[in-house]
Amino acid sequence: MKAACEVCGSPLRTGPNRVEIDGAIMIVCNNCVKLGRPVGGPVVRDVRPGQVHPSFRPAQSSFGGSSPELEVDPEYNLKIRQAREKLGLSQEDLGRMLNEKLSVIRMVESKKLKPDPVLTRKFMHHLKVNLLVPMSELEGRTGI
Ligand SMILES: [Zn+2]
Repeated sequence: MKAACEVCGSPLRTGPNRVEIDGAIMIVCNNCVKLGRPVGGPVVRDVRPGQVHPSFRPAQSSFGGSSPELEVDPEYNLKIRQAREKLGLSQEDLGRMLNEKLSVIRMVESKKLKPDPVLTRKFMHHLKVNLLVPMSELEGRTGI
């Protein structure tokens, strides 16, 4: 099935653009993109082919103006290990990428060391994984 612009109906030659028009999310062509407001966050533009797509996790909580407090995911160790293995990296590789000691990577993956904000962002950047969750979401979880 050929994708077509939801506004003018012309076939989409370039990547689809997600825009908001009168509150509705529409997939439009480049000509119609100026009719709406771009939505959907980053439109996987800087993802090279073959790479895993970063998991975008739209915030479900309604923003009351201020951004929610973010906390490192309690399952950070699992997420880091899974993301690393998906990229085919060894713990040594990851340590080199992050400029961290192998022992640091090992301790983080075995949950003996909770990464500080700087290290967390390095993991997120290099592994293309989200390790931060809003505090409010954590409180809603059970069994932690
Ligand atoms: Zn169009």
